[in-house]
Amino acid sequence: MRDFSNDHSALALNTATLGHNVDGHGAGWSPERVIDACAARGFGAITYWRREIGDRAVDIGERTRAAGLSVSGLCRTPFLVGPLAPPTRAAVIDDFKASIDMTADLEATCLTIVVGGVIEGSHSLTESLKAVADIVAEMASRAQQGNVKLALEPLNPVYGGNRSCLVTVRDAVDLCDAIDNPAVTIAVDVYHVWWDLSLATELKRAGSARIAGYHLCDWLADTTDVLLDRGMMGDGVADLKAIREAVEGAGYSGFCEVEIFSANDWWKRDPGEVLDTCVERFRTVC
Ligand code: ZN
Repeated sequence: MRDFSNDHSALALNTATLGHNVDGHGAGWSPERVIDACAARGFGAITYWRREIGDRAVDIGERTRAAGLSVSGLCRTPFLVGPLAPPTRAAVIDDFKASIDMTADLEATCLTIVVGGVIEGSHSLTESLKAVADIVAEMASRAQQGNVKLALEPLNPVYGGNRSCLVTVRDAVDLCDAIDNPAVTIAVDVYHVWWDLSLATELKRAGSARIAGYHLCDWLADTTDVLLDRGMMGDGVADLKAIREAVEGAGYSGFCEVEIFSANDWWKRDPGEVLDTCVERFRTVC
């Protein structure tokens, strides 16, 4: 396992940690200001949200690399199925294509897919996952052409109803197997997998080529909101070292990306303090 105690070049910032994924939250720093603040602290990469990028993908990608950082990812595709997805399949495909093109223009490592909840009226995870596989398979060749990895992110089962019918790494690896395209991979997020004792086994089954991202935060024992009350690493109950051992045991050697949705705590703090804390916790508890 890598030793980060004196080297945090593998540390990436997901800008959701500064509240940039939700309107009306966070300090509202520009991408340029985030880039400079991350570069000054020795971060290795940044993952952006589409709402920050607009029509400036090429420019922001170049600006990030000029500061010595990589673009570790882009969040995210539309929900593909379920109650929060766009109203028609055609609308889903159009927005999915736009997100792939933005990822290619940014030259980001991967595009996160949050698949959406159970199809309304279906009462069926299986049927919903089949519809997901169908859409992702259709998009895989476009992703390949743009040199984009699609990263299926299984979410914590608490989101099964509305945000993600994909709730385990096991099912994510099964989806990769079913689609069988090298552009289709998975992302592993502590918030979503910390409870899963089959994690190491399933990640070995995935193999290093199919793990495109590793996301850090913590699960607070007394969490007040399952969407917007994630913990800073070290403040919760997740076994962060064991989870990273499972991820790296499967051959992953990429960035470790801090992604903390925290409306009432970290998003209210000065972004400089948040970034400093990320570095300190990454070196000591991750
Ligand atoms: Zn994540």
